[in-house]
Amino acid sequence: MEAEAAKDSVFDEGFVELEVPEDEAMEVASSATEQEGLQGRGIPTDEVEQIMQSEAYQRRIATCHLCGQCWYDNKFRVGCHECGGFPLQRACPVCDGQCGSQWTRNIKLSHSFHEAHWDGSCALPPEVQHAFQLRKLTDSSEETLSEGLQDLSTS
Ligand SMILES: [Zn+2]
Ligand SMILES: [Zn+2]
Repeated sequence: MEAEAAKDSVFDEGFVELEVPEDEAMEVASSATEQEGLQGRGIPTDEVEQIMQSEAYQRRIATCHLCGQCWYDNKFRVGCHECGGFPLQRACPVCDGQCGSQWTRNIKLSHSFHEAHWDGSCALPPEVQHAFQLRKLTDSSEETLSEGLQDLSTS
């Protein structure tokens, strides 16, 4: 109360006491209209989430940009780079599914590189994974795999 009294005495021009309640009233009014405007124009957050989770949206996202096959429907085109020979999931590419783990397509990366990208990890021990990698790099015969394993044990 003392501070207000001091303020009044400094800016005492007769308008001070009238201006304060007017400003407060305007603030309340403007914030109310702002909220109404947002609710009217913008899409509510939960509605956006509903769209994101909807089947139509998932289907649109999980569609190959190159060949137009819908991975969401378990479809892909053989020989298409972006499809990579599988829809949304594939067996572990490191050991050709021997570890039993499923890798999930990274849809975003698949689209941006037009090449299939997968998220996952092989459940086999690292040295066995390495042997599989050697086998793929050199030959696909069983002989090369055992050679790779021998190389590992001797080195
Ligand atoms: Zn494709
Ligand atoms: Zn594996």
